[in-house]
Amino acid sequence: MKHSLRLSLLALLALAPAVQAADLLVDNVNGYTLDSHGKLQHFQALLVDQGKVVATGSHAELASRAGDAKVIDGHGKTLLPGLIDAHGHVLELGYARNSVDLVGTKSLGEALAKVKAYATAHPDAKWILGSGWNQEIWKLGRFPTAKELDTAVADRPVWLSRVDGHAGWANSAAIRLAAVDKASKDPGGGRIERDAGGNPAGVFVDGATALINAKVPPPTPQQKVAALDAALAEMASVGLTGVGDAGIDLANYELYRQYADQHKLTARIYAMILGTGDDFDTISKNGPLIGYGNDFLTVRTVKLFADGALGSRGAAMLAPYSDDPHNRGLLFLKPAELTADIGKALGKGYQVAIHAIGDHANREVLDSYAAAYKTHPDGIALRNRVEHAQIVSLEDIPRFVPLRLIASMQPTHATSDMNMAEDRIGHERIKGAYAWQRFLKQGTIVAGGSDFPVESPNPFYGLYSAITREDHAGQPPGGWYPDQDMTPAEALRAFTLDAAYAEHAEKTLGTLEPGKWADFILVDHDIFKDPASKIWNTKVLQTWVGGKQVYAAKD
Ligand SMILES: [Zn+2]
Repeated sequence: MKHSLRLSLLALLALAPAVQAADLLVDNVNGYTLDSHGKLQHFQALLVDQGKVVATGSHAELASRAGDAKVIDGHGKTLLPGLIDAHGHVLELGYARNSVDLVGTKSLGEALAKVKAYATAHPDAKWILGSGWNQEIWKLGRFPTAKELDTAVADRPVWLSRVDGHAGWANSAAIRLAAVDKASKDPGGGRIERDAGGNPAGVFVDGATALINAKVPPPTPQQKVAALDAALAEMASVGLTGVGDAGIDLANYELYRQYADQHKLTARIYAMILGTGDDFDTISKNGPLIGYGNDFLTVRTVKLFADGALGSRGAAMLAPYSDDPHNRGLLFLKPAELTADIGKALGKGYQVAIHAIGDHANREVLDSYAAAYKTHPDGIALRNRVEHAQIVSLEDIPRFVPLRLIASMQPTHATSDMNMAEDRIGHERIKGAYAWQRFLKQGTIVAGGSDFPVESPNPFYGLYSAITREDHAGQPPGGWYPDQDMTPAEALRAFTLDAAYAEHAEKTLGTLEPGKWADFILVDHDIFKDPASKIWNTKVLQTWVGGKQVYAAKD
């Protein structure tokens, strides 16, 4: 009797649902996540414990399991997994916000006025630095000049980075300080724009930017901290809970470690070491850093460059530019050099991510990966990446599959560049440009990013561009080469699960499945139900990382 009672009690206990601890219930939401197969799931409530997802489900199901967990009422707002930007530049975003910001200026005159106003407001600044100009938007039909910049500021050096970071615009004081003149030769991998008399005209392209950069005082530790704080705050405000930082040096690495130790990171940082030189040797002494500080910092990647950018015609093309028949752009490295760099990184167990814009650069990258895998066959499993994969010859796109490469692409580049890109490369080559569906259809992972501060870090701009291929004014109606549009689920996947995959983190990040980090956002639009034209306007209301709120919008 006694014996059988105990048995039946045990049986009852086994039938009752296991009581799981939970410390947070986010209830009454219009929630979406992908599952690990990329299938879209809908839910009303999210249960969290110690920063990790316990479950998603209906209100009825999860409220009964919440015990004395803190309850957040989502007021029916849309909840999404935290968005991940696979390729941005964190400190550069902060520097851009803390210096002259020329992004979005509509004319040369407006840009000059901004430079002048900044200089007046910062009388003690020895250099006036800034970024974000784009002569294409100004419809100049040429680069701006040093003489034009002198009309804004002549008493101090001014140095302004182009929006793509692949050219700089100096005033006469900066050019004098750098001692560049008519006799100066174009450095390897770079070009000094010149006037009719052969004198430096003001703009320095790619490798030539080093001539001025060498004279610019490096940012002070305080400026770095201020830049990181500004960037983290902005990322949280636009719903980014993770970022692939596409190029850090040793000092930046140390700053990240310090922030991770002090629990000051509000987004998960996946930082790529610039090059395979001294900084790499130092940082890689103890091998890759994986999931440091509760998965807030991972450093297991080397970033390399194969070419420059399209806007400044620094992208390396197989055939001349359609709008500049004597120019094919520039390859930064010989194939053997690139292969050696890849091999060095792979040999130490580091993933490789290579910037490649033009079809020549992309082909060189594919060839170099293939060559490096011959001596480092295990390296193929490191989920190596091509950053941008912007213009790829149609015959080269299938090569991403056997080489197991990830295409790390920036949807906003398509909608920002479309008119310029077609001028540069013509109607035929454009078929392999920003060709997201060609990659997706062959099974290539497309990781979504913005390349901020080249573009806005706002991932809803990226989702919008990916889904519509229209600019914010709805141009061109129906989208630019709309056969390459992503579906909303594909776009979300690029900025969540596949961005996480590109970081080897799809088991801990990218979806709201049980056991993963509770990185999520509440927003004011439903990207699956509202008209696509509204997506870019989505406002982030709350951002949560590891079950902790890191941002709340002010009403
Ligand atoms: Zn970049």
